[in-house]
This record gives sequence, structure tokens and C-alpha cells, in this order.
Amino acid sequence: MLKGLKKGALARSLWVYHVSASPCNNCDIEILDLLTPRFDVERFGLLLVGSPRHADVLLVTGVVNKKVLDRVLRVYAQTPKPCLVAAFGSCAISGDLFVDSYNFAGPLDKHIPVDVYIGGCPPKPEAMILGVVRAIEKLNKLKDL
Ligand code: SF4
Repeated sequence: MLKGLKKGALARSLWVYHVSASPCNNCDIEILDLLTPRFDVERFGLLLVGSPRHADVLLVTGVVNKKVLDRVLRVYAQTPKPCLVAAFGSCAISGDLFVDSYNFAGPLDKHIPVDVYIGGCPPKPEAMILGVVRAIEKLNKLKDL
């Protein structure tokens, strides 16, 4: 019963920590847009938190380069498990324009397990909201909660 309660509570109040790897900032601005009255994702229980230690979801924007990789791994290690990881935008998913750069460390899912992919450059709000739905679905499927 406790497991069911915990899962239910999580699915209704996802706490999200935004990991800004090395984006152009456009993805980050779009995330802030989601919190404005027009989209207001907080009404679905989604909350941006200031520490990975309080997070259920890591939302990673930007290209993972060799300098930032260690920090992304450390943030992932600090996040209580089980947690979900969302790759937000083409840079985090594939490297996009920077795929041939000397500094590119590979797509995010080469380094940590990614549960949700939110495509676009930057992703549209509708894609982000769909990503939230996918995250909640995934959370409901987790058996070890
Ligand atoms: S996916 Fe596009 S908008 Fe997002 S950080 Fe990369 S270049 Fe910028």
C-alpha cells in the first residue's frame, strides 16, 4: 500500500531539477515559458527545485561536452534513485550542430540512462507537455518504487 501511495504522490508532483549542460540558452528560456500563466505546468504538480537531492526528474539541456560531462555525472549521482532523466532538445539528444566538435563528449544517453526524449531546437511547449506525460507514464511503470 505504501508503495502505491508513493508512486501516486510522485506521479502527481514531479519535482524537476534543470541541468544546464552547455546550451545556447534557448532551451532554458522555453522551460521558463512553461511556468508562465499561458502554460502553467505547475498546475500539474510539476515544480522546478533548486537541488538534485530533492528531484525526481533531471531535465538536461544543451550539448554534453568534455568539460561539463563530469558535472552532469555528479548531479546524476546526487539524485535519489529511482529518478527519471529527460533529454531536452536536439543538443542533449544527439549533439545536433556540435556533433563533429572536438569537445563533444557524445549524446546524453551514452553517459546516463535517459527515460524521456523531448525533441526540437528548442522543443515547442506542446512537445514539453507531452514529455511530462511520458515521464508520468514511465514513472507509473517503475516497479521498484
Ligand atoms: S537544442 Fe537548439 S535551442 Fe536547445 S540548446 Fe541546442 S541549439 Fe540551443
